[in-house]
Amino acid sequence: MRALLELQQLDLKIEAFRAREKEIPRQKEAFNIQRKRLTEELKESEGRVKKLKVEQKECEVDIDQKNTQIGKFEAQLLQVKKNEEYRALLHEIELQRKQIALKEERILGIMLEIDDAQMRFHEDRKRIDGEVAKLDEECARIDAELAEAVKERKELESRRAPLAAAVSPPLLKRYERIRTARKPAVVPLNDESCGGCFMTVRAQIVNEIMAEKEHHSCQHCGRLLYFPGNIVKSEPSE
Ligand SMILES: [Zn+2]
Repeated sequence: MRALLELQQLDLKIEAFRAREKEIPRQKEAFNIQRKRLTEELKESEGRVKKLKVEQKECEVDIDQKNTQIGKFEAQLLQVKKNEEYRALLHEIELQRKQIALKEERILGIMLEIDDAQMRFHEDRKRIDGEVAKLDEECARIDAELAEAVKERKELESRRAPLAAAVSPPLLKRYERIRTARKPAVVPLNDESCGGCFMTVRAQIVNEIMAEKEHHSCQHCGRLLYFPGNIVKSEPSE
């Protein structure tokens, strides 16, 4: 029974490491989602600048086209004979100039917006780069933690076989069967109740456990029971 308790202690430690090993990738996944969100935020910020620049370019092209058109109208002015044709052309030229003035005004507005958007983009980039660097650091830290947990677990696992060999095969078999469903599988008898499910154990069984006559399971939860007084005497100091 003492050997079995040692084995159980080791098994519980191994399981704690396994649980941690499962938890770590989930943490990392959360960090990755955060990183992706930050990258998208930065892209959006940069996109605002790009969009304004495209609009500015469109305005400039439009102004160029209107100036070309004005040039054509002015060439026609030299050729028309009739007064109303002349006036109509002047009117067209005036119209184009007004539209150009509007576009130029818009370009000034865009330039201010670009300055603003660029400033915000630089601020966003600084902040987001900092946050991503922190996330990278965290990821590196948990990678190291995972490697360490795996190493420690393997070290513990290498100690398992000799401990298991010290337990009598039928008892080991019982233990292995119980621990697939109940953890811990071996529990102390507290007064006269099971240390796992806290139900009262029959007096007859309590007596037999105390006398170390036989290995008994709790009739309620099936866990193996032991009497702590029988163990404490020579529990190995680890
Ligand atoms: Zn029980």
